[in-house]
Amino acid sequence: MGSNLGDRAGHLERAVAELRLGGVGVKRVSSIHETEPVGFRAQPWFLNTVVEAETALFPIQLLDRIQAIEIRMGRRRLLHQGPRTIDIDILLYGNFRIQAGRLIVPHPRMAERRFVLEPLAELAPELRHPVSHLTIRELLATTPDRSTVRRLSKSPNQQITESPNRP
Ligand code: ADP
Ligand code: MG
Repeated sequence: MGSNLGDRAGHLERAVAELRLGGVGVKRVSSIHETEPVGFRAQPWFLNTVVEAETALFPIQLLDRIQAIEIRMGRRRLLHQGPRTIDIDILLYGNFRIQAGRLIVPHPRMAERRFVLEPLAELAPELRHPVSHLTIRELLATTPDRSTVRRLSKSPNQQITESPNRP
């Protein structure tokens, strides 16, 4: 998930809480990473985090739940890839490959996004991508994305706190 508008850390925290209320068993949350926007660059930096969860929801049901949370949290789709209070994407769903109209899993751009791979590697470095069969650690080592990603805080006990930026 990512946020680059308003109380960014607060939005991430609320999104985790909303997932839990919505029947998603959040198990682990990565530390928060501050990341440079890629694609449309003229916008504020993001805070990103990756969540590991267990759920009985089917993938499309999970997407519906996630999109309801985005709407409840005031997300407006004004600009493709533009600033947002909250963006929640499904990166992986077990070892499944899904190609529905509205949902593609694994997320098609995850291997080209350092802002995804860094927090994901913190949770699951040895996890294998279901299509490329490379580990997350290997994807991170070989991604062409050179954008800046800096870890802000450890999140012990799944506590999300924003600490002052480190150099
Ligand atoms: P992005 O996340 O790429 O910045 P959006 O959040 O606006 O853009 O998502 C655009 C559309 O992507 C959603 O309406 C959703 O149907 C679709 N989508 C496809 N695959 C996924 C996925 N794995 N996770 C989240 N959304 C997805
Ligand atoms: Mg999205």
